[in-house]
Amino acid sequence: MLNKEALQRQVQEIELLINYAVGEIEQNLALDFLQRFHEDSFALDVIQDYYRTLPEAREEPLVKISVLERKEQVFLLLLSTNRHHYFYLANDEEGLFIGQWEEGLSAPQVLSFFGYPHQDAFAREHQSLDNCREYIALERVDEDICPSCGVESGNLHTLGCPVEVCPWCGGQLSRCNCRFEQLGVEELEDEKMLEELEGRLEDKGRIPYAREQRPSFLAE
Ligand SMILES: [Zn+2]
Ligand SMILES: [Zn+2]
Repeated sequence: MLNKEALQRQVQEIELLINYAVGEIEQNLALDFLQRFHEDSFALDVIQDYYRTLPEAREEPLVKISVLERKEQVFLLLLSTNRHHYFYLANDEEGLFIGQWEEGLSAPQVLSFFGYPHQDAFAREHQSLDNCREYIALERVDEDICPSCGVESGNLHTLGCPVEVCPWCGGQLSRCNCRFEQLGVEELEDEKMLEELEGRLEDKGRIPYAREQRPSFLAE
């Protein structure tokens, strides 16, 4: 799957960055943490940006990502090493370092976006590092990628993908009876039947992946 290859490539790129950015003694710490997110493109982007930027030029491994605030598709994260913590604002496209924990969050647009009238209000809400919720791998899934077969929005699913919508009944193509009815059979027995089904699907017009098709258990 294309998506998998892209993720693997990104992991390799980050490993290379870690090689340069972190001292030998702490490299395993950095690599272990990276492995936890090897299927999560959102987290990989964050980790990659961390090692590219290397805030304050400190050569420290990233060991924790916490979620401080979330609104719509925007996350306010806290990126932590064993010694320092950095505020990081991230959406689908990009991320931005916006200061250190000890100094508090002061960017006025960020504060008001998350509904805080001023810096103190934010500080009251986030008093302790211990209360920060850790980011869970894959919680911020890329909605433009089919969660099952991995195609991008607007493209056809891999035939057999359980997320594909049936063009005849609007149900789940891998579950409804339309495929049998179309071919006038009880079950799909061989390659030839599959090919015939594919032909009929194409004549009817297959329904490409769109984020609305995400199974509801993945929705927010
Ligand atoms: Zn699919
Ligand atoms: Zn159907």
